[in-house]
Amino acid sequence: MTSPEVVLHILRPRCYPIRLSLVVPMYNEEAAIPILRAAITSFMREFPAEPEVILVNDGSADATLVKVAEWAADDPRVKVIHLSRNFGHQIAATAGLDYATGDAIVLIDADLQDPLCVIHEMVERYRQGYDVVYGQRDAREGELAFKRISAWAFYRLMRTIVDRRLPVDTGDFRLISRECLDGLQQMREQHRFLRGMVTWVGYPQCAVKYRRNARVTGSTKYPVRKMLSFAWTAATSFSTLPLQFSIVLGMIAGLCGIEEAIRAVAASLAGRTVPGWTSLMVVTSILSSAVLISIGIVGQYVGKIYEESKGRPLYLVARTFNIACPAERNVPGKAARAAGETRESQG
Ligand code: UDP
Ligand code: MG
Repeated sequence: MTSPEVVLHILRPRCYPIRLSLVVPMYNEEAAIPILRAAITSFMREFPAEPEVILVNDGSADATLVKVAEWAADDPRVKVIHLSRNFGHQIAATAGLDYATGDAIVLIDADLQDPLCVIHEMVERYRQGYDVVYGQRDAREGELAFKRISAWAFYRLMRTIVDRRLPVDTGDFRLISRECLDGLQQMREQHRFLRGMVTWVGYPQCAVKYRRNARVTGSTKYPVRKMLSFAWTAATSFSTLPLQFSIVLGMIAGLCGIEEAIRAVAASLAGRTVPGWTSLMVVTSILSSAVLISIGIVGQYVGKIYEESKGRPLYLVARTFNIACPAERNVPGKAARAAGETRESQG
C-alpha cells in the first residue's frame, strides 16, 4: 500500500442496478429501529431498483433481535443475520456484505447519521461507472467537540500511517459495486479496517459530499477506547510504519548511548574520573525503554500473525430470517461437507 499515485480509469457507464442491497450492522439499537424502519420503508418505496435490506444483529443485549425479526416477518425484502455474539462493527459489516446479493451495495449505520437521500447521488455516480462512491462529510451535527476533534485527528493520522489515498472525513457509508465487493470478499483477514481494504481494492472511486446528521437516538457505540483500538488495528494491519518507528527509536537511543560513551572516554582521558552512576542510569533507562517499546511493537505484529494462523472464521451466524441458504464464504466446513456428501452419493 505504498504507491499514492492516482490511477487513471476510463469509466464504463452502467445501467441502473437491478438490485440494491442496504447493509446495516446493529449493536444495541432497539430505540433506533422504528425510525430506521420508517426511513428505509419510505426510501424503498421511491427507489426504482429492487431493494434488499440486510440487517446484521451484532450480538446485541437489548431487544434489537426481536424488533428486526418482527420487521423481517412483515417484509420479505428484509433479511436478518443474527451473529452468535458481538464481533464488532467491522466484522458485522463484513457479514452483511457477504450475504448481500445486489449489483450495488450500500453500507449504512443504524442510527441514520448518514442520510438515505445521498444514496440517489451515489447511484448516479455508480451509473457513470464508479465502483466505489464514498460519502464524505463536510459537516457533522450533534457531536461533541471531543468526538469531532478526535475524528478529525483519526482521519489525518490514518492517511499518514495507512495510505495517502485514504480519503479524509469518510466513514464506512459508501456504495460498492458487485465487482469491487467480489475483490473485497477475497480479503479475509481477522483485523479489519474496511475503509483501507476498499482503498486497497482500487477500481474507480469517487466521493459525494454530505452533511452528517446527529444520531437519531441512543449513544455512539464507538467510545474513545474502541476508537483508539480501531486506530491501532488500522495502523498495524495496513502498515509496517510502527515497526520502522521502533528502528528509529533504537537509533535515537543508540546515538544517546554513543554521546554518553564519548563523554565518558573524554572525562577519563582528562583525568576527571566521574562516579559514573548518573550517566550509567541514563543510558540504561533510555536503552531499556527503547528495547521494550520495540519488543512491544514487534509483539503486536506477532500476535496478529498468531491470530491469523489459527484460521478461525470471521464470525458465526446463530440464526437468519428470510435467508434461504447461508453465504458460502462463511461456512467453508459446510461447503466441504456438502462436497463430501456429493462424492459419497456419486460413489
Ligand atoms: N455497531 C456494531 N457492532 C459494534 C459497534 C457498533 O454493529 O460492536 C454498529 C452500530 O449499531 C451502528 C454502526 O455500527 O449501526 C456504527 O456505530 P456508531 O453509530 O455507534 O459509531 P459512530 O457513528 O458514532 O462512529
Ligand atoms: Mg453512527
